[in-house]
Amino acid sequence: MRADHSRPTGPATGPADPSVTVRDSMTTSLPPDTDTPPDPAAGLLLPVPDDDGAPFWEYAARGELRVQTCADCDEPRFPPRPCCPHCQSFGARWQRMSGRGRIWSYVLAHPPLLPAYAALAPYNAIVVELAEAPRIRLVGNLVAAPDAALNSVDPARLRIGAPVKAVFPTPPGGPTVPRWMLERP
Ligand SMILES: [Zn+2]
Repeated sequence: MRADHSRPTGPATGPADPSVTVRDSMTTSLPPDTDTPPDPAAGLLLPVPDDDGAPFWEYAARGELRVQTCADCDEPRFPPRPCCPHCQSFGARWQRMSGRGRIWSYVLAHPPLLPAYAALAPYNAIVVELAEAPRIRLVGNLVAAPDAALNSVDPARLRIGAPVKAVFPTPPGGPTVPRWMLERP
């Protein structure tokens, strides 16, 4: 190997500006904030509503589970989209559901996961078949209370076919994502 191949190309660490070191040491010497409880939803991903799905999230924020339904043939459809796949109508309304359904399928998530999710694993993700619209299946999480953590239900309690009901957490500043609780906790 020629000697100049191992020639150093520059400093391997950051700049030697002493002000950087001073700022770092000030930041790390701050006492921990013990007044704020840890946010169980910190770092979790939030939905990004689009034009077709915006009403779903607006109704959810009011505690209502509504499914886009064709205004001509009355078939519900999900996810929301402009055109009915059954009759090609562009007419639609938002039909209110009771919020009741059954677990149609589920998984238990294990790492590798994003850090905020890895801290909660194993947690469940369930697919719920709606009582009034069995062909409509929504993905969500089974929880012990509307604002409880994703891992608040013992995985041993998950059963295909178990009756569930929709609940609506009230996050401080985020969209309301419907979640599910067992009808018979
Ligand atoms: Zn239709």
